[in-house]
Amino acid sequence: MIYYKSEQEIELIRESSLLVGKTHAEIAGLIKPGVTTLELDKIAEEFIRDNGAVPAFKGYGGFPNTLCMSPNEQVVHGIPNDIPLNDGDIISVDCGVVMNSFYGDSAFTYEVGEVKEDVKKLLDVTKASLYLGIEQAVSGKRIGDIGHAIQDYTESFGYGVVREMVGHGVGRNLHESPEVPNYGKIGKGIKLKEGLVIAIEPMINMGTKSIHQHADGWTITTADGNFSAHFEHTIVVRKNKAEILSSFKEIEKVLNKK
Ligand code: MG
Ligand code: MG
Repeated sequence: MIYYKSEQEIELIRESSLLVGKTHAEIAGLIKPGVTTLELDKIAEEFIRDNGAVPAFKGYGGFPNTLCMSPNEQVVHGIPNDIPLNDGDIISVDCGVVMNSFYGDSAFTYEVGEVKEDVKKLLDVTKASLYLGIEQAVSGKRIGDIGHAIQDYTESFGYGVVREMVGHGVGRNLHESPEVPNYGKIGKGIKLKEGLVIAIEPMINMGTKSIHQHADGWTITTADGNFSAHFEHTIVVRKNKAEILSSFKEIEKVLNKK
């Protein structure tokens, strides 16, 4: 069942989503060669709890940490560890919090030191595809319009669109109906209505769209070992223009200073 949110509920989701953006910004400046994902995870957890919220992923289905940290060929759901990041790596960081009973969810892929031009391009194109998807999230359009915009744009660069993992509704639960695939056909799928809050989250591979699930039960990597990027916003469907409830502004402020 799809649950459409009241304005009051949307405000609470916005507060949670903005805290996710601030949490990203807390670690954005610390992402450099030599740092470990476990160090960043601890900082994020402390920051979330200091702000009166609870990490959404920790304990979710048994996930052990606050952040999903997925370097390089890892697509999503990477578990933080004590392996230092290297110059030229990328790291996809997914963060969720719950506060006042409502969730926020947002992901960003960061460069570690100096990355290759073709990797920069993967990040730029994936982020741009997120905003193309968001442009479609207006009342009267359909779920397939979102996925189509993302797929059409990213595939034009020869990239692979992950099929097995998709965006989702957000509210009192981290994952609600409907599913929001990053692929689709114009005019297909459920009709979008005002008050629908969804996470749109393209997971785009430099090579094949095929993925591989690891024995730890969590980590997803690309089947061919090529890099993968992930950007995610929590948004609400409105009449003429979707409203983005999460924010990359604080992240981008930190990155521009780097
Ligand atoms: Mg997420
Ligand atoms: Mg999500």
